[in-house]
Amino acid sequence: MGNKFVRAIFPGSFDPITNGHLDVVKRAMRLFDELIIAVGRSPVKNQLFTPQERVEMIAELITDLPGVAVESFEGLTVEYAIRRKADVILRGLRSLTDVQYEFQLAMTNRAVAGVETVFIMTSEQYGFTSSTLIREIASLGGDLSNLIPANVHKRLEGRFSKLKHKAEDAMQG
Ligand code: ADP
Repeated sequence: MGNKFVRAIFPGSFDPITNGHLDVVKRAMRLFDELIIAVGRSPVKNQLFTPQERVEMIAELITDLPGVAVESFEGLTVEYAIRRKADVILRGLRSLTDVQYEFQLAMTNRAVAGVETVFIMTSEQYGFTSSTLIREIASLGGDLSNLIPANVHKRLEGRFSKLKHKAEDAMQG
């Protein structure tokens, strides 16, 4: 990309961040000078972790990754991208199913704000990993150690044992 300083934002829910997201981040580091992982504070989605908790988990994971930062944002991704003077939006791809939705999103973002989107494909081993699936498996007590970082695993365990206790308390009380 020549001598120009290139800043990318990687927007998403990251509820929670998975090894698939991290794989995309590590690949993207080779392409951009600065990469901001941007946790969306969307009011519509069913959330497990608060935006602050999600940011904290990501911050713990990127301490050794130069040029990578994390923050949260509210509202439209394109408006945030313009505000942060991002040159590109980064998104990860797992499968052809992702392409259809992402294509539409990228076209819309370019049409309304002139912002380009760059896609990076994840490693095959994470092609089926989604935050939704992680939340479901964790709630049922399944083994997720290959799919999420250790700090996320720990928080999920804490969250679901808390939920279990609450349910037990409710049944007894
Ligand atoms: P959103 O709710 O905006 O889709 P996500 O946190 O689910 O946010 O995902 C953020 C980005 O990371 C999206 O581009 C998504 O396609 C991508 N992504 C999600 N899971 C993976 C994975 N396992 N490997 C690579 N990219 C992924």
